[in-house]
Amino acid sequence: MSKAICIQCGYVKKYPKIECKRCKFTPKTQKEIAKSIVLSTQYLSEESGEYQEFEDISWAINKIENGEQNIFDQGLVGRVVKQNEGLINTRIVDIVRMILFPIILFLLGGLFYLLRKFLQ
Ligand SMILES: [Zn+2]
Repeated sequence: MSKAICIQCGYVKKYPKIECKRCKFTPKTQKEIAKSIVLSTQYLSEESGEYQEFEDISWAINKIENGEQNIFDQGLVGRVVKQNEGLINTRIVDIVRMILFPIILFLLGGLFYLLRKFLQ
């Protein structure tokens, strides 16, 4: 079962990107989303290469509830931000490819049609 910790109040929620039922906080910026992913069982740990267990992240609950701010490894958060941006970029490239390919085919077809018409 997927679990995540609200980076604002420490409440346990199901997924990193959803609204917290207790404090109504929803991660919006890339950094907030990255932090939320790091504190979830959806995060693939750099050390073990496996998804984190809830035991790997539950330590953060008390710290956040006590108002501790600097519990995040900034380098790690930065890398997760980059990973997410990379994912978005590959998606955009895929979409552009999907749209551009038929357009190019269509234009080439039109070009051949015109050439044949003029050469007759
Ligand atoms: Zn919360």
